[in-house]
Amino acid sequence: ENAQLKDIISHAKEYGFVYPSSEIYDGLQAVYDYGAYGVELKNNLKRLWWETMTRVHENIVGIDAAIFMHPTTWKASGHVDSFNDPMIDNKDSKKRYRADVLVEEHAAKLENEGKVEEAKQLTAALARLLEAEDLAGVRDLIVNTGITCPISGTTNWTDVRQFNLMFSTQVGSVAEDASTIYLRPETAQGIFVNFLNVQKTARMKVPFGIAQIGKAFRNEIVARQFIFRMREFEQMEMQFFVRPGTELDWYKQWAETRMNWHLALGTPAEKLRKHDHEKLAHYANAAMDIEYEFPFGFKEVEGIHSRTDFDLKSHQEFSKKKQQYFDPEVNQNYIPYVIETSIGADRLFLLTLCNAYTEEKSEEKSRTYLKFHPAIAPVKAAILPITKKDGLPEKAQEIVELLKYDFNIIYEEAASIGKRYARQDLIGTPFCIAVDHQTLEDNTVTIRHRDTTEQERVAISELHGRIAEATSF
Ligand code: ATP
Repeated sequence: ENAQLKDIISHAKEYGFVYPSSEIYDGLQAVYDYGAYGVELKNNLKRLWWETMTRVHENIVGIDAAIFMHPTTWKASGHVDSFNDPMIDNKDSKKRYRADVLVEEHAAKLENEGKVEEAKQLTAALARLLEAEDLAGVRDLIVNTGITCPISGTTNWTDVRQFNLMFSTQVGSVAEDASTIYLRPETAQGIFVNFLNVQKTARMKVPFGIAQIGKAFRNEIVARQFIFRMREFEQMEMQFFVRPGTELDWYKQWAETRMNWHLALGTPAEKLRKHDHEKLAHYANAAMDIEYEFPFGFKEVEGIHSRTDFDLKSHQEFSKKKQQYFDPEVNQNYIPYVIETSIGADRLFLLTLCNAYTEEKSEEKSRTYLKFHPAIAPVKAAILPITKKDGLPEKAQEIVELLKYDFNIIYEEAASIGKRYARQDLIGTPFCIAVDHQTLEDNTVTIRHRDTTEQERVAISELHGRIAEATSF
């Protein structure tokens, strides 16, 4: 892991954003918990996504489907048969690896050593073998290239096998007729199986969308890079149902809308890029990712996919229930086509953290602060009496009362004012409000701004309006 990512991970832990899960037992790989400021930040991101999807678009409504679904769902979606990664085990270390990742990492190493041509040939060979689903060929490539296990250092590899990423569990008691069900690996299917329920009960007309935020589970084998790839994570997905033939226009439109959303959140344009998929999944007729430049390179944050009528058609086949919509405008029954936008809440969280993390070093002072857009900052303002006496705490509490019903506010009276400012910088609070003796006389306070550290004098009566304006999106 590179140095910058390491700094961000330890900052996230030290200042109450993200901890390893069940840390007292040395953690659980690829599972994380969110702390006091982390949960606020994550909730703010989710709320912002939800509001810009459902409230701003009058033709998008939300649902909250269950994590457990009828097992046939995952037959119809293709996950039982093809949601696989090619895995290989080293016989000496007994460690399991993703075969494709082993090859890619070896190619990256060759490239670093200046063996660019060799690296290119290796990745091209891998792509050909994966395309042909030639698993024996992938193993031969690993052995013949002399790729060694990072732990044992040997080339003693097993065969390559497909490994399904879905977690399964049992419903019902084992003695009776227990049956295997899965923890959903994506939230999308909960939307597809409810397509007609929502369309009818919310009285929607095509084109319309259904949005959902919820947990998804994948048994990721290569689990690294902090919360970038987790085994339990949260997705924010929106499936937009359109008339067949209009899908590529909608696809373009959604790609643009989503890119603008990221820009509005303060992510700089040069850190974002679109990446069109060259190789499309069997169900898609267009697909792209929005990528962000993480400390470990440009990586997918959000996917925008034109999924055709694949899912609804497949559910119609498996359920024997018609999944058609009657379109009065063209007087026709059809299965709508779908454009989906799919983003991981945790991955967006990581983007936000990486983007906000700022180390400022100059001759006079150095400081670290989190430059969050005020709309998503976990704490909006800290109310700080400059001393603990002379009635300043009481006055400061009056201000807390004034603001706390609308904003997440912190009150702090311990330590010097400079130390308290520094602490708020570390959790990304945009405004520090200092209450001093003058406040008692004229009802004004000092606002200290996080990014510039500039201070200004403002009337208490103006505070609510000022914060509301700055934290609106
Ligand atoms: P990747 O190629 O990174 O595995 P994917 O193409 O499988 O991702 P999708 O199935 O399209 O991802 O999922 C949509 C979004 O869900 C991704 O853009 C990402 O933000 C998020 N996501 C997917 N898998 C994970 C995971 N294991 N941990 C955290 N977020 C994830």
